[in-house]
Amino acid sequence: MGIVDKKSYTLKCPNCQKVENGLVVDKGSTWNGSSWSNRCNFQFFNVQWSDSDSMEPNIFNASCVECGSAADVDYSYSL
Ligand SMILES: [Zn+2]
Repeated sequence: MGIVDKKSYTLKCPNCQKVENGLVVDKGSTWNGSSWSNRCNFQFFNVQWSDSDSMEPNIFNASCVECGSAADVDYSYSL
């Protein structure tokens, strides 16, 4: 129930040009607020999430598994 928000992440390695997309979904409801869940796992990037359960998930650090370069992190919202 409630509004479902999707937050789509795009990670890109500036060195290998690898690009990977991931999606997290907000299963919010009107009585207990938002509950972000389903933090996605990335295959080509090591990702560290900000450690808050109540706020929307944010990637604060991502690095390329292959070469170790810091990844470019971009995201967008959709309903
Ligand atoms: Zn790389």
